[in-house]
Amino acid sequence: MTEVLAQPAVLILLGPPGAGKGTQARMLEEDFGLVQLSTGDLLRAAVAAGTEAGRQAKAVMEAGQLVSDDIVLAILKDRMAAPDVAQGVILDGFPRTAGQAAALDALLAANGQRVTAAISLDVDDEAMVGRVAGRFTCATCGEGYHDEFKQPAVAGTCDKCGGTAFKRRADDTAETVRERLKAYHAQTAPLIAYYDGKGVLQRIDAMGPIPAIRSALAAIVSRVSA
Ligand code: AMP
Repeated sequence: MTEVLAQPAVLILLGPPGAGKGTQARMLEEDFGLVQLSTGDLLRAAVAAGTEAGRQAKAVMEAGQLVSDDIVLAILKDRMAAPDVAQGVILDGFPRTAGQAAALDALLAANGQRVTAAISLDVDDEAMVGRVAGRFTCATCGEGYHDEFKQPAVAGTCDKCGGTAFKRRADDTAETVRERLKAYHAQTAPLIAYYDGKGVLQRIDAMGPIPAIRSALAAIVSRVSA
């Protein structure tokens, strides 16, 4: 069931690769009618479309490093201007640097808004390599699967939509995940203190089962948006 929030929310999901940001953002979309805004997805779409930004981002993404703030901010601003984000957004994978966080504050302030909550999905780094390296998604609906932890009930067929094509991200190799974890700790983890200082930080133990994390997140979102 979709709960309607009293006011549009701007939620940030923070956490290293594999923490479950994308999975939980999709669930928050279902639970609250919010829009998931993943800069990773937007960048992958730019790469696939062969735009100038996509061409510049491709090699950086494959190396597990961060794309420049200029490129990411341009893509994000475009997406934030679309009418469907009015009910509220879940930012998944953004901001990732202090510069992006400051730019987001300025963008929101220009519309009389601010960050409602930044929710850190706390996980053990060691477990993330295995989580990310085996994952794949339905090419039709985006449902997530994993070689070890979550195979489709019928091999080769998506549980959710019946699709039969699946895809894996080029950067979901063990080696690249280690680079992405390094980038996370060097450039993104400091944002936890940044949002704590603003009084909007929430933390969740994200090592447990997906439904338990979903409930914990939903409780936070209902509370901070009341
Ligand atoms: P994700 O899908 O969030 O894991 O992002 C995949 C890759 O896209 C990252 O490893 C980065 O190379 C790039 N990327 C996504 N979001 C950002 C961002 N906010 N800032 C810089 N690079 C990003």
